Amino acid sequence: MMKNESYSGIDLFRLPAALLIIAIHTSPLASFSKTGDFVLTRVAARVAVPFFFMTSAFFVITRYAKNAERLAAFVKRTAVIYAAAIVFYIPVNIYSGYFREQPLLPRMIKDVVFDGTFYHLWYLPASVMGALAAWYLVRKYDYPRAVAVSAVLYLIGLFGDSYFGIAQKVPGIGGFYRQIFQVSDYTRNGIFFAPVFFVLGGMSADCRRRMSRKMSLIGFGVSFALMLVEAMTLHTFGLQRHDSMYVFLLPCVYFLFQFLLHFRGRRKARVKELALALYLIHPMMIVAVRLAAKVLHLQSLLVENSMVHYLAVCAASLVVGAVAVCLLEKYKTKKPVPVAERAYVEVDLNNLIHNVRTLEQIMPAGSRLMAVVKANAYGHGAYETAVYLDRIGVRAYAVATVDEGICLRKYGVHGEILILGYTDIRRVEEIRKYDLTQTLVDFAYADAINRQGRRIKAHLKIDTGMHRLGIDWEDLAAVKKVFAMSHIKVCGMYTHLCCPASRKPDDVAYTKGQIARFYKLLEWMERDGMKIPAVHVQSSYGLLNYPQLKCDYVRAGIALYGCLSAPQDCTVVKAQLRPVLSLKTRIALIRTVKAGDTVGYDRRFTAEEERRIAILPIGYGDGLPRNLSCGNGSVRIRQRCAPIVGLICMDQLAVDVTQITDAAVGDVATCIAAEADAVLSAPNVAARSGSISNELLSRLGERLPVVAK
Ligand SMILES: *Cc1c(COP(=O)(O)O)cnc(C)c1O
Repeated sequence: MMKNESYSGIDLFRLPAALLIIAIHTSPLASFSKTGDFVLTRVAARVAVPFFFMTSAFFVITRYAKNAERLAAFVKRTAVIYAAAIVFYIPVNIYSGYFREQPLLPRMIKDVVFDGTFYHLWYLPASVMGALAAWYLVRKYDYPRAVAVSAVLYLIGLFGDSYFGIAQKVPGIGGFYRQIFQVSDYTRNGIFFAPVFFVLGGMSADCRRRMSRKMSLIGFGVSFALMLVEAMTLHTFGLQRHDSMYVFLLPCVYFLFQFLLHFRGRRKARVKELALALYLIHPMMIVAVRLAAKVLHLQSLLVENSMVHYLAVCAASLVVGAVAVCLLEKYKTKKPVPVAERAYVEVDLNNLIHNVRTLEQIMPAGSRLMAVVKANAYGHGAYETAVYLDRIGVRAYAVATVDEGICLRKYGVHGEILILGYTDIRRVEEIRKYDLTQTLVDFAYADAINRQGRRIKAHLKIDTGMHRLGIDWEDLAAVKKVFAMSHIKVCGMYTHLCCPASRKPDDVAYTKGQIARFYKLLEWMERDGMKIPAVHVQSSYGLLNYPQLKCDYVRAGIALYGCLSAPQDCTVVKAQLRPVLSLKTRIALIRTVKAGDTVGYDRRFTAEEERRIAILPIGYGDGLPRNLSCGNGSVRIRQRCAPIVGLICMDQLAVDVTQITDAAVGDVATCIAAEADAVLSAPNVAARSGSISNELLSRLGERLPVVAK
């Protein structure tokens, strides 16, 4: 089930991971057992940093993304944190005599780029380098090759780390590593260590098939045991120069991550921030605890007992970290971005998530949302909408065309993307390359695709009475043939209802007939021992009027955007949906026209008396229907209604603001309001223009920028 789907397992594990890192720096078991301490801090705790790398990559690295926005945001954020941390640790650097060392500059450059200006800070430049390297590798090659290249880097790193004792013995190799150590104190850095984990993190995000819980747990257990054996052996023979990198660390972290991916729930944003705070401040807390122990004469307890020391550092870090997170949250005021556009679409993403959760609540358990984002997400901006839906965990999308599908991939959208319409068979390779799913619109089409010889995923469409696309529901023989096609993987089957919005008895009967036919076909297939793939029937009205129907997916479009098609529509389920989109523009100029003057093309408006007219820089070229001309439509300025006068032009229109005496140039004019039931709600505006909100919204022009709020 997808309700509130977020990776809470990943979110929550950040906390123990941060505590493990504190353990590395405080050795809690040192007072009790040397071996125990080695196992805890030099072996087990080594999963923590790679886990953080994979986690970052999971949300940053993707195979298809052509626009580097997420990467840029990650790099920028990490750089800012790094800069702040460098400044934060300057006092400790001064105290430790860092700045007295000579020559200072080369050392500083080396530290800033590779080793961190304070020992634990190496993680931040390594994250940046790892992300950049993985991004490059994944886009240049496919995943297997990116994994291979980054694994080779890791291998090189390995012989400068845990396996250095072996490398040293090989002639020539020792010199190679001495060169490396001129530039970086360790091979555990952004070049040799981090990239492979970033690649693996991206791979985990892009790959839709999840490893089972059991498999991942077994994999983790086995590789952890092997890592332990590996580490103990290297340790016993004294081969380690450093102890961060092991061969079995790779599978160990990978399996652990796959296991954690199974835990879904609400997003734990605070835990993420707290873990970061712990990471950044704990060395300061080590200093603080030592200082406190000295002042209070408690050294024997607080410092010499390693476990108490560890717990004290954890407690201090948790308290200070929590306070820091709370303070930052308080001062992180959201600045409203001033919109400087002539005309724009404003989308309220809070309303979008509300609609997603509302629809999911109506859907029966086991049914998942397939977000229909065709036609620029019904005018809401495919980018803004899909990237947001991806972030909140929606994992299935429907588009109309192959290009819309490719676009989503380039935005970094994960999960299934179903093309609802026809795609020229010459583009099969693109369907495969971008991991899209094609609708098989009839038998001849499926046959032609199959002959292309490239295996793609598809959903088979069944015609149950719409008589548009699909194989006839009675043609079981054709369905069987399609399922047997060797170059098509049929992973879904669906039909489309032609009058699900109507509550008229004969339309309801017709719809029930369509549903019955679809299920009859499934019954026949089952009887003949065929495996039933994922099935779906309902669009928005299908769900709202036939909510009891249990399918694998619901293809929701208009309802997702918080509207019904027409104002008078009444559905069985009264969903509290919230409109997402408003269409706004601003007054370009205001003029006064005298009695008898006309306004606009064809002189369709004549002023009977003196009037104040505001010109708005929006027209039918932006998708505002020309049918709203001559008083048929209106806009809202300063909470009052201004009727449209004369004919709407391609890029401008005129409204009468005589009554709105305070209207001024630059004022926002709302053409479509994101309010249910308002005069300017999408269904009402659409109805006035003689259409439905689906058409009104999907025709909003591409030249309108989308502003997310
Ligand atoms: C557009 C479309 C949908 C979405 O319809 P809404 O009524 O907007 O929910 C669903 N299925 C198919 C086949 C479509 O073409």
